[in-house]
Amino acid sequence: MEKQFNRSWTRFHDDPRTVLLNQVPEVDYPRGLADLIELCRDRSPEVRLRAAGSHWALSEAAISDHSFIETHDPQDLVPAMDRTLLDVVPGCLHRDVLQSMASEAWPSRYGALIHVESGKRIYQLYAELDQTDHGLNRATLAGRLGPHFAGPWGLETLGNSGGQTIVGAFSTGTHGGDFDRGAVADLVVAVHLVADGGRHYWIERVDHERYYPQLTDDAALKALYGADIYGGPGNFHIIRDNQILNAVVVSVGRFGVIYSAVLRAVPQYSLWERRRMHLWQDIRTQIAASSPGNPGLFQDTIIQKPDAQQRFLQVVVCLTPHLNFMRNLAGVTKRWEIPVAMGPAGHAERVGDGDGGPDDSPNFTKAGKSHPFTPKPDHPEQAGDPTMLEKACTSGSFLSGLTSAVIDEIEDFVESNGAVVGAGIGAVAAAGGVGLLGLLGALALVALALKELLDALGADDRLGETMEKIKNKLLDPNEPDPAKRAAGLFAWQLIAYEVFQSLQGDQDAAALSYAIMEGHDYLDVSCQHNVASVEVFFDANDSRLIAFIDALIAFEIQQEMQGKACLGYASLRFTGPTQALIGPQQWERTCAVEVSGLKDMSGSEEMVEFATKLALNPNMGAILHWGQYNPSTAQQVEMRFGPKLTAWRAALAQFNGGGGFSSEFSRRAGLEP
Ligand SMILES: Cc1cc2nc3c(=O)[nH]c(=O)nc-3n(C[C@H](O)[C@H](O)[C@H](O)COP(=O)(O)OP(=O)(O)OC[C@H]3O[C@@H](n4cnc5c(N)ncnc54)[C@H](O)[C@@H]3O)c2cc1C
Repeated sequence: MEKQFNRSWTRFHDDPRTVLLNQVPEVDYPRGLADLIELCRDRSPEVRLRAAGSHWALSEAAISDHSFIETHDPQDLVPAMDRTLLDVVPGCLHRDVLQSMASEAWPSRYGALIHVESGKRIYQLYAELDQTDHGLNRATLAGRLGPHFAGPWGLETLGNSGGQTIVGAFSTGTHGGDFDRGAVADLVVAVHLVADGGRHYWIERVDHERYYPQLTDDAALKALYGADIYGGPGNFHIIRDNQILNAVVVSVGRFGVIYSAVLRAVPQYSLWERRRMHLWQDIRTQIAASSPGNPGLFQDTIIQKPDAQQRFLQVVVCLTPHLNFMRNLAGVTKRWEIPVAMGPAGHAERVGDGDGGPDDSPNFTKAGKSHPFTPKPDHPEQAGDPTMLEKACTSGSFLSGLTSAVIDEIEDFVESNGAVVGAGIGAVAAAGGVGLLGLLGALALVALALKELLDALGADDRLGETMEKIKNKLLDPNEPDPAKRAAGLFAWQLIAYEVFQSLQGDQDAAALSYAIMEGHDYLDVSCQHNVASVEVFFDANDSRLIAFIDALIAFEIQQEMQGKACLGYASLRFTGPTQALIGPQQWERTCAVEVSGLKDMSGSEEMVEFATKLALNPNMGAILHWGQYNPSTAQQVEMRFGPKLTAWRAALAQFNGGGGFSSEFSRRAGLEP
């Protein structure tokens, strides 16, 4: 096992120019189960450990007091622990389960199972599942059980990105926006945990409906994992207890290191996605009013497949107001499950061809190396070109095209004495620009200042850095001339409006499940870096949710008056309840509000801080995401989770309290036995 000492450690979203921790004592790169057991067994009492995946958590969840156990080196310089395993699935499945799976009567909705080491990234997982396995002489499910397991398979739900490791993702409660199902943690059927002291545990869900009488066979598991290299038969234990599994799946690294996990997969499917621009002020009441008797935004249909059930809802609110501070854009995205034949694209764009690597950890040309799937405007089921913003984000350059268009629009308006009102000005200004007539002179100066700024911008400036310069030019609180201040504020809102339109404008897309769900742009080197983000979970039917968004908007208006602005958004996604004891999706219908902004802009971190403080107010009844900014104290966590936290702590106590995995984060948040 490779070990590195006294080296730096940083997270994906930290400022690329600096590292978060300059010198951590030890970073270990295990290659498999035996290494993990050795690390946990041989630690000296003063050394504490913590596992890390892709370092995508924005909280301190993955930060160790001392040694870091890396399951997938974010820089890919050391081989990852990311194999797909066949020794338990199908090797150790209970014979009755194997028999029912082998039968043609096995319901396709029960799907297949995949067993992976914890460092497998989500994009590796969906890429592998989307292959067809003819099982020829292979010890795979298709090889053992027949062609009905040939695949391709997909995952029932995902977050909007695939760069996390699968275990890192479910450990913090990662979720998407599928309101009729739970979080990624709810796909987990079993985990293999190595606890403090080096004992290891196979922890399996009891699911008599699907896997009767139990998923795995004890003797086979013991023969495999009771081997001497794993500490012998006395060092391995099997637990079949849903309470324990529901504690471990969302445990933020506190129970030990999860070596591997078994997840449920479903037959591959496609999704139809429809995105439309609305105004927050028009739709906010539809969210508040949504309840089983009043479906609000949750029961729409598509003409392409009228019987398809809507399953996804996201509302992205632009925090920068327009129309005299009275309105905010809101991009509304809905999704429906459709047959693959109606949306067959996405594989070439998001997975690509096989590109070497071993059978149990293959590489693909596009998985984790591509732009999001963009449809052709007139053919939603076909792949089109990357958007202007995606192209802009592949270089360090800012969207100069967009700002130039804004300048042109202002100049046309000024030169025509207010007669030529472009689409942006018409939307952003009250009464179609009439109110701007008194600002013509000041607007001309603003256009000039923006032009000079564009010429002076460095080619390698990140999006946030450039926007900060533009904002400082436009929102100068010390500008003595009120007309210039008003014109600058107007131009700022116009730019923000255009950026948001280009991100959330109307679009239809139909493609394979992961190509629609995975929205991350892996070629972006400019836009999504140095981000501040908090995610706040509410009961979707609680009016405090709407009050929270309205408060963010009011905060932004106040900031803009003082020369600050958040370049970001508030995104509302909806999920069903999770089984995980301290998973943040605690309600029948949960709304997760992500408040996110680029840290380079003065005003973004302030917005995230404000949102966090408000969310932690005891009267808000909200919960914070474990894998985003999360300064919760033990008292706040106790208040939110109540008896479920007590059950979680009792489960942790069964593993001797696992003190070796305690960290500053877990002690502050009360994640202790
Ligand atoms: C660009 C981006 C997009 C995101 N999108 C979403 C989204 O759509 N929905 C959402 O809910 N969240 C989202 N997140 C948050 C993200 O999913 C979580 O922070 C996730 O936990 C990160 O996974 P990771 O592999 O990077 O784990 P890390 O950040 O490395 O670790 C996260 C936690 O998992 C624990 N852990 C990791 N591996 C193991 C292991 N083998 N055993 C035990 N514990 C382990 C760590 O100790 C830590 O507590 C996003 C984050 C980013 C940066």
